[in-house]
Amino acid sequence: MRVTTNREPRIAYFSMEIGLQSGVPTYSGGLGVLAGDTLKSSADLALPMVAVSLLYRKGYFRQEISLDGHQIEHPVDWEPGAHMKLLPQRVKVRIEGRDVLVQAWEYEIRGATGATLPVYFLDTDIEGNDVWDRGITYHLYGGDELYRFKQEVVLGLGGARMLGALGHTVKKYHMNEGHAALLTLDLLHRFKQNIEHVWDEREMWHEEPVRDLCIFTTHTPVEAGHDRFDYGIVERVLGDYFPLSVLRELGGEAMLNMSTLGLNLSEYHNGVAKKHGEVSRNMFPGYDIKSVTNGVHSPTWTHHAWQKLYDEFIPNWRDEPELFVRVDAIPDERLWQAHIEAKQELLNEVRARTDVEMSPDVLTIGFARRATPYKRADLLFSDVRRLAEIAGGRLQIVYAGKAHPKDAGGKDLIASIFKGARFSRASESRLSAKLRDGFGPEIIAGVDVWLNTPMRPREASGTSGMKATHNGVPNFSVLDGWWIEGWIEGVTGWSIGPPATETNLVENDDGADIEDLYHKLEHVLPALYADDNHAGWMQVMKGVIGKNACYSTRTA
Ligand SMILES: *Cc1c(COP(=O)(O)O)cnc(C)c1O
Repeated sequence: MRVTTNREPRIAYFSMEIGLQSGVPTYSGGLGVLAGDTLKSSADLALPMVAVSLLYRKGYFRQEISLDGHQIEHPVDWEPGAHMKLLPQRVKVRIEGRDVLVQAWEYEIRGATGATLPVYFLDTDIEGNDVWDRGITYHLYGGDELYRFKQEVVLGLGGARMLGALGHTVKKYHMNEGHAALLTLDLLHRFKQNIEHVWDEREMWHEEPVRDLCIFTTHTPVEAGHDRFDYGIVERVLGDYFPLSVLRELGGEAMLNMSTLGLNLSEYHNGVAKKHGEVSRNMFPGYDIKSVTNGVHSPTWTHHAWQKLYDEFIPNWRDEPELFVRVDAIPDERLWQAHIEAKQELLNEVRARTDVEMSPDVLTIGFARRATPYKRADLLFSDVRRLAEIAGGRLQIVYAGKAHPKDAGGKDLIASIFKGARFSRASESRLSAKLRDGFGPEIIAGVDVWLNTPMRPREASGTSGMKATHNGVPNFSVLDGWWIEGWIEGVTGWSIGPPATETNLVENDDGADIEDLYHKLEHVLPALYADDNHAGWMQVMKGVIGKNACYSTRTA
C-alpha cells in the first residue's frame, strides 16, 4: 500500500457535483455519482488525491409525483455537520466588486486499505458575506446564468485558492467537466506577471505551464450541455480580474464556453467511452480528445446479497474485480437465490411506497435515471396498446427518475409515462409502472433487465448500466456509450435498434428503435426468462458478471 503524507503533491479533482451517499444531497445524477465513485476507487487505491466541490446547503430536491403525474420539488433538509467537518481556513473571491468569503467542509473518504481522501465542499454561507452571496452555494443547478457563473467562480477560483490555504501542493488539476475551468485563470495569474503583455508577445499556449498542470474530462456529447456564458455576465462578475480579450482567445469569441477554456488549458483531454471520444473530437475539431471509459465503484453498487455470494465464491473481488471472470464457480441455485433476494426486497419497497403488488416470478424491467428528453424514457410507451398486449401478465416495469426543475421536456416525460402506465393498468393487463426516487443498488439489483433507450450518440457513457452488471442484471439498451463496448448479443444482454454508426448529433429515427424494442420484448426476453427453470437466463446473468462487471469498474 502507498502511504500518503500531507506534503505529498496531490491530484486535485474538481467537480460541480459529487455524490457520495444518500444523506449528502450534493449531486443530481450520473456526473456527480461518477465523481463520487472515482474518488472512492482512488481512496481504495491510496492515490494521493483531494477533491473540491460546492456544499449546496439546500441540496438538490426531494421529488414527489402528483396524482396527475407532475413532479413536485421539495427542498432537502440536511445537516452538513453530521457528515463533515468545518475547517477554519477561509479564502476570498471577488464577485461583482465585492470580496466574498469562502469556507470549506471536509468529508473524509476512507479507502479499503485505510488510506483517506479529503473532499472539500466549498460554502459561502458565512456571516460577513452579503445576504445574496451567502446563497451562492445553496442550490445545485438552481438559479439563472448569473447565479451559475458565480458558483463556478467559487468552485474554480475559490477552490484553487482553498487548496493553497490548506497547504496542499497540487501536481495535477483534474477538471471533471467544464464547470471548474475558471481555476485555470487563477493558475495563469500565478505563473504570469502580466497576462495581457504575455499574450501580446504571442507566447504559444501549448508551452503554457498551466497546461502541463491540467487535465480535462468532457461528459457531454450534447451541444447545449456545455456551459456557456455571455461576456456581459463574465465582465459583471469578474470585473477587471482577467483581460477579456485574452479570455475570448481561450474560451471562445462569442460566448465563454467553459469546455473550450478547459480544452485550451489542459494537456490531456478525454471523453468517457470510446464512442464519446469520437463524437467529442467531431464536436471540438483540432483537439486530441482521447477516451477513458467510465467505471463504477464495485462495492458501492453491488447489492448485499451479491456481496455475500462473491465473498464466498470469488474472494478478493473487491480489490480485483477482474476476478469476476470466475463467475462459473457460483452454483446456479445460489445465483438465483441472491437475485430473488434483491428482487423481493425491491418489490416489497414498491408495495410499501405505491401499494402496487408485483410478483417475483414475473420478468421485471427497470428504468431509472435523470428524466431528460435525449434519454427517451417514454420510448417503451410509444405504443401502449401493443405494450399491454406483449406484457399480458409476463412483464412488469419499475421506473424512477427526477427531472431537472427547469427541464420542462423532462417533466413532460414523467407525466407521459405516468399516463401510459395508467392506461396499461386500466386495460387489465398486469403491467405495472410506478416512479420512485432513490440512491444505491436497490432498484438496479432488484430487476431482471436494465433498460436504456437514449438517442444515439448522445449517451456519453451511461454508468447505471455498469451498476446493473455487478448484480447480474443484463442490459437491454440502445447501442451507445459504454454499452457498445460491453454488448455481445444474447450473451451479455440485448441491443435495441441499429449499430452505432452516428458520430454526429444527427436526427434519430425512433421508429427502428421502437420496432426492435417491441420485437425483442415479444419474442426474445420473456421466452428465455420462462424457459427451463431460468437456465438460459442464468447463463446470460453469468455472461453479464463475467464479461461486463469485470470491465465496468474503476478499480481495475
Ligand atoms: C448512476 C446514476 C445515474 C446515471 O444513470 P445513466 O443511466 O448512466 O445516465 C444517474 N443518477 C443516479 C442517482 C445514479 O446513481
